[in-house]
Amino acid sequence: MDCPFLRDAHVKYCRSSALRKMIVQTPEAAAGELCTSGLYRDCGAYRSTPQNKEGDPLCPWYQQMEVQYCGAAAVRKFVPYNESPLSRCRNEGYRYCELYMGLAGASSCPAVEGIRVPEQLYYAPNHMWLDPGSEGDFHIGIDGFLARVLGAVERISFLTLSGVKRPAAVLTAGGVDLTMVFPKALLVTGTNIYLRASPAKLTADPFTAGWLFQAAQVNTVHSRPLEHVTSGMLRGEAARRWIAGEVERLSRFVHDRMDMPADGGVFASGVLEHLSSEDALMLVSEFFGVDAHWKHK
Ligand code: SF4
Repeated sequence: MDCPFLRDAHVKYCRSSALRKMIVQTPEAAAGELCTSGLYRDCGAYRSTPQNKEGDPLCPWYQQMEVQYCGAAAVRKFVPYNESPLSRCRNEGYRYCELYMGLAGASSCPAVEGIRVPEQLYYAPNHMWLDPGSEGDFHIGIDGFLARVLGAVERISFLTLSGVKRPAAVLTAGGVDLTMVFPKALLVTGTNIYLRASPAKLTADPFTAGWLFQAAQVNTVHSRPLEHVTSGMLRGEAARRWIAGEVERLSRFVHDRMDMPADGGVFASGVLEHLSSEDALMLVSEFFGVDAHWKHK
């Protein structure tokens, strides 16, 4: 499915010009234009580089092609149609494009204790999510529960940049390093490198601008069903029940460590930095470690 802002156009340009300026063809502009009528012989560019096809009704330097461009961008950049199929604009990856997100606005989704749990995502026991596109592509990130625990992230280092691996990154928050490893091996095709410059987006917008990895199924030629990738992960109502249980479990953990009454409410955003280093490391290993498993569903 293409991005709704993706546009098709027919453009023309002059091959004799040093600067390739593409002009969108419209029926009005085509009528009586220089390049596609005998008038091209009066064109200064043609006269300076004449060709020997004088009888040709089209200027020999005239070129046209089908292109696509982003209707949401301030400056139009034309991409030849046959070069764009792999671009994110032509598959569901457009949902993670900054321009698209800026114009589409935030969509509402179910929440548990103020933590968003988007319906369409699959959740792993270490609080990472997976969004399968319809064309075998995936996006991966951290869920809203982990985002709340972290509060502000100081640094992100990607451990996996490409290849068939379990996507991994180190997140630094509250003086603690968390090594987040997605539990399934996938073909990593990209990382959200913009997070290195703006790590705050990871927790401010964990389901859109804060995505971490882009991936594809291993061996897409004989691609296995989606269930192979999503098996053992939770979604929808089951995911919401699990998050509710995790909120309770983590709040209890924090109250115990900080010697607070058991009814001290739900843990606060950025709780990690209020714990001693020892307790913070214990919390990370218990909830977000590589070997985290379902404690309740
Ligand atoms: S650049 Fe972004 S908004 Fe523009 S067409 Fe591509 S995905 Fe859509």
